[in-house]
Amino acid sequence: RLEKCDGQIEFENVSFGFGDAKLILDDVSFSVKPGEFVAIVGRTGAGKSTIFNLLTLLYPPRNGSVYIDNHNIHDSAVDDVRKYIAIVPQSPELFPGSIMYNLKYANNQASDGDVRKICEMVGLDKEITESMGGYDAQVGQRGEKLSGGQRQRMALAKASLKSAPIVLLDEPFSSLDADTSKKIRDHNLWHRATCLMITHKLSEVKGASRIIVLDNGKIVENDSHERL
Ligand code: ATP
Ligand code: MG
Repeated sequence: RLEKCDGQIEFENVSFGFGDAKLILDDVSFSVKPGEFVAIVGRTGAGKSTIFNLLTLLYPPRNGSVYIDNHNIHDSAVDDVRKYIAIVPQSPELFPGSIMYNLKYANNQASDGDVRKICEMVGLDKEITESMGGYDAQVGQRGEKLSGGQRQRMALAKASLKSAPIVLLDEPFSSLDADTSKKIRDHNLWHRATCLMITHKLSEVKGASRIIVLDNGKIVENDSHERL
């Protein structure tokens, strides 16, 4: 059982595919140190999001093992693993309820003040109070009353409020303009966590200590930006 978490991640010879279909991840091995910030890049369909799906126990690997702090995550209950992981999914969805309800979803200990502070950092606070009807406004089914960029910043705020030791970001700035994205990145929301970020943008890769390049389910590069 995973009692606490420093945020060390290891994939050991992991392969994955649906049923008998061709492998989506093919013998993938890498490790990430606690507090490290690693970018994952690669063309569409390469298997990037699948790495996150395995880490969050959406499905088991076909072969190999995934470890967090040297503990095989498949020996743990799903909730015991997920409580250590904050994720900004590729297409974030919200739950029916208010903006505040959604923001506190992953951490009901957060105060209204904490929530507003994070919302300021992701550039949402002013928008919420001035044009979205306030923190008590309803987001609609799946958050349909919000724009894609608003939903994405809600997901960033929610993930940051969780204060998890592991943060998984799947193209977290894809719906935002360059200026907004830069301002959010400058706040260093994940500075103490182990962070894996999937991205297509060079400007976002630059902040990472290491880049893993996936191609067709295999790791073809794993090195710092300067050396690649
Ligand atoms: P993108 O940049 O487009 O998000 P990705 O690198 O994140 O791509 P994945 O989502 O990991 O790619 O998908 C890898 C492969 O797995 C793709 O070929 C995709 O079609 C396939 N795949 C994903 N989910 C399923 C599923 N539920 N059933 C069958 N195949 C799937
Ligand atoms: Mg993806």
